[in-house]
Order: sequence, then C-alpha cells, then structure tokens
Amino acid sequence: MRYCRFEQSGSAHYGLVESVAGRDQITRLLLQAPHTSQGDVEGLPSRRMDHIPLAEASLLPPVEPSKIVCIGRNYREHAAELGHEVPKEPLLFFKPPSSLLPPGGTILRPKISERIDYEGELGVVIARSCHKLANSEDVRPYVLGYTCVNDFTARDLQNKDSQWTRAKGFDTFCPAGPLVTDGLDPWAGVQVETRVNGQVRQSGNTRDFIFALDVILRYISCVMTLNPGDLISTGTPQGVGPVSAGDVVEVSVEGIGVLRSPVADEA
Ligand code: MG
Repeated sequence: MRYCRFEQSGSAHYGLVESVAGRDQITRLLLQAPHTSQGDVEGLPSRRMDHIPLAEASLLPPVEPSKIVCIGRNYREHAAELGHEVPKEPLLFFKPPSSLLPPGGTILRPKISERIDYEGELGVVIARSCHKLANSEDVRPYVLGYTCVNDFTARDLQNKDSQWTRAKGFDTFCPAGPLVTDGLDPWAGVQVETRVNGQVRQSGNTRDFIFALDVILRYISCVMTLNPGDLISTGTPQGVGPVSAGDVVEVSVEGIGVLRSPVADEA
C-alpha cells in the first residue's frame, strides 16, 4: 500500500498511489487517513477520481502527527563525526509538527543561525495507538509505513543550547514525503541517501542502526503513548553538512522515492 496527501481545489486529501502504465498515479481519493482504519485501505469509503500523476500533484506532508519523535546518533559513524560516544540507549528528541514541510517546499535558513545542516533519515508512520510495548510483542502491526524525512538542524544553535528544541524546531525544518509505503523492510536493510545539488553526501543503510526499529518503538512507547499518524525519525548516517541559499537537497530512501527541498534565506 502506498498513499500520499495532496491539495486539490483548496482542500487536503489522502490518495492511494498506484503504478499505472509504469507511472506513479494517485488513483483513488481516500476520505480519511489510512491509519484511522488501522491500515485497511480497502475498507475505506472512497470514490474514484481521474488519475493524477504523482509528479504533478500538489503534495502535502503525508502525515498529520500529534508529535514527531526523533532518534539522535543511531549510526556509529555519524556519532563519531560529531565527536560523540555511541549512546547506550536511544537518544530521543522532538520536532514540532509545525516544522513539517511538504515535498518540494523551501527550507528557510533562520537569520539567527550561521549553519544549517541536512540529515537524511528514514521516517516511520505509526498505524495504531501503542503504549508500553512488551518485549514479546511484534512491533510491525503498529507501523503503517515509511517515508523520507530530512531532520534539518541549526548546528550552531544545537552546539550552543543544552537541549535541541530551538536547533531542530524551526518552521520548514522537517521536510517529509513524498509518500508513505509499507513495501520495505528496515530490519533487512534499506538504503538512505542524501544529495546536495546532485552530489551524494550521505549514503547509509538501516541495517547499520545502533538500535533496531523494534528497540526504538518499544523504548519510545515506554515513555509516551504513540498515536496513529505519529512520525518517528530514525537517525541519520554519517556525512551531515551545511547548505546555503540556492542549494537543493534530496533525501532518497530505497523503495519510497525522492524528497526534494530547495534552500533559501529567511526574508
Ligand atoms: Mg537527525
């Protein structure tokens, strides 16, 4: 199952994405978010629509989360490049839902930061409410699907502040999309790549996670209830670096697609 969220006639809609004659098309309008029926898209009330090519749709962030929970330092080489020890347990922080940016949207560098960095990551969308997941419980039914996330970070402010709310929380600092799919397996290994102006800067694989996805989900669920539609960003591989106005950043995750974001200075 693949779905996206898009704008049409001034309203936001969810749509099912299917390959028609070799092209990704939005083939059906979903009248509610897929996770509100626990992922059973076939059971949703829906109506047929003219196919819209995914590439031509006015896409929105594919999720409307109550929270975005991120994992810091989940790849050894990335922890090392920033001069940190490998964490002994998952390191959690939040990005506010107001930081979400649609695919193709422009990342704005705030005037108070001298350095903003891309962080390409695999995003996980929660399917159903979970709280205190037991070690014996399979976490997969709680995952609706996966998307691309760019965990933009004002690195100078992150180094200056004792916590990361400001550095990670600016409007436009969480590009996500272009769609959500359940057609990949992070445990088996999924390639995560970031390019700036077409040049590869990060190339990692989720099989190198320090904390596997089931460990992450159990750990978070022991702190807070995860709600349908919540977004988990699983950490970035090595190769983070700054961008400037005029650059174009692309995060691609194998099996999902490309999340493209131009960069501009705040007006
Ligand atoms: Mg990150």
